[in-house]
Amino acid sequence: MSAISTSTPSVSVESIRADFPILNETINGHHLVYFDNAATSQKPMQVMEAMNRYYFHSNSNVHRGAHTLSVRATDCYEGARDTVARLLNAASSREIVFTGGTTDSINLVAYSFSNGLLKAGDEILVSTLEHHSNIIPWQLAAQRCGATVKAIPMDAQGNLLINSYRELLSSNTRLVAVTHVSNTLGTINPVRDIIAIAHEKGIPVLIDAAQSVPHFQIDVQDLDADFVAFSGHKMLGPTGIGVLYAKESWLNQMPPFRGGGGMIQTGSVTIGNTLYNKAPYKFEAGTPNVAGAVGLAAAIDYMNEVGYDFIQQQEEQLLHYALEQLQQLPEVQLAARPEHMASVFSFNVKNAHYSDVATLLDSQGVAVRSGMHCTEPLLSHLQVNGTARVSFAFYNTLEEVDVFIKALQKAIRMLS
Ligand code: PMP
Repeated sequence: MSAISTSTPSVSVESIRADFPILNETINGHHLVYFDNAATSQKPMQVMEAMNRYYFHSNSNVHRGAHTLSVRATDCYEGARDTVARLLNAASSREIVFTGGTTDSINLVAYSFSNGLLKAGDEILVSTLEHHSNIIPWQLAAQRCGATVKAIPMDAQGNLLINSYRELLSSNTRLVAVTHVSNTLGTINPVRDIIAIAHEKGIPVLIDAAQSVPHFQIDVQDLDADFVAFSGHKMLGPTGIGVLYAKESWLNQMPPFRGGGGMIQTGSVTIGNTLYNKAPYKFEAGTPNVAGAVGLAAAIDYMNEVGYDFIQQQEEQLLHYALEQLQQLPEVQLAARPEHMASVFSFNVKNAHYSDVATLLDSQGVAVRSGMHCTEPLLSHLQVNGTARVSFAFYNTLEEVDVFIKALQKAIRMLS
């Protein structure tokens, strides 16, 4: 891709696609159409090259050596932290903890809260729309402390019920944890309002941004979020790296999640006791995923170059076009149609199983996900057993939507 930015009209999907070699794969004799971006995105060459460059020229362990390669590795790792901090407009890089992904980030906060910040009778408020990784860590934390997990309800179209949310907040609520974008329905939750309402009562809020950071700009200071969790692999980066943003005041209060090297104050460890390093290192025990952090920083650089304006515009167009086309197919039922949607939707074909639909699409080169998408409470609420799910990235095209619709029509014919 040539140098492009939001203000450069030369940005084009064609030039972007040339950076993603996997998009040229042939699947079952057909040109790949990749519509499973919510599960994981594809990676541009720039990300893979940055990771190779790191291994070719800078690989070493971080923070622990006086030798040159160790300094290079530390610079790469801390440089990546700065890149993430700039992306989120964090007040300081000290507020960025590298983790293994969204799941890992949420477990960190949940475990840490259950170790002194939660007590019997406390309540943690999640929503019916959550991915299991923003439910189960809270159940585990609640079980350890005698707390309970409650859920903000949603309506039949997948919109959160904000009035019910207000009513559920009580003097027992210790934390609110909600997703920014539903990975199953595409609902964009009003997280700014959710945070402001909780803050009126002094309650901190964690935002699961796994499905939002890949698609639109998040400013943690503007949102006033206490915690934000996301994964590198859903936003062009490698697997195994993710981020927990947390206000420094929280990181300073929270006990560590894991013990080991790197999270201690040098000279403080005895067999009986340890003093911990300052944040974020207190939460990064052991050798970190340096190459992953380098890859994530390269992914962020790439997205910045493309520009969130372009990303959003492209994805909105894909979503509207696809929904319009689907409306022409009477056999297709959308699982829900939320008021504000990101580029994800779930559907079923009347009298057909969602896995058969996905398998028939795959046989024509079209990759969609099928199942429950780790959102069983959401699907129970909608009274469906599962769905087929389409999720776009900015490198997808309207022509690919046409291929998908044709392939779906063929699948419907075969299943009827
Ligand atoms: N939350 C949401 C909304 C997600 O979509 C996902 C991934 N499907 C996760 C959390 C978990 O992310 P990871 O598996 O990368 O930890």
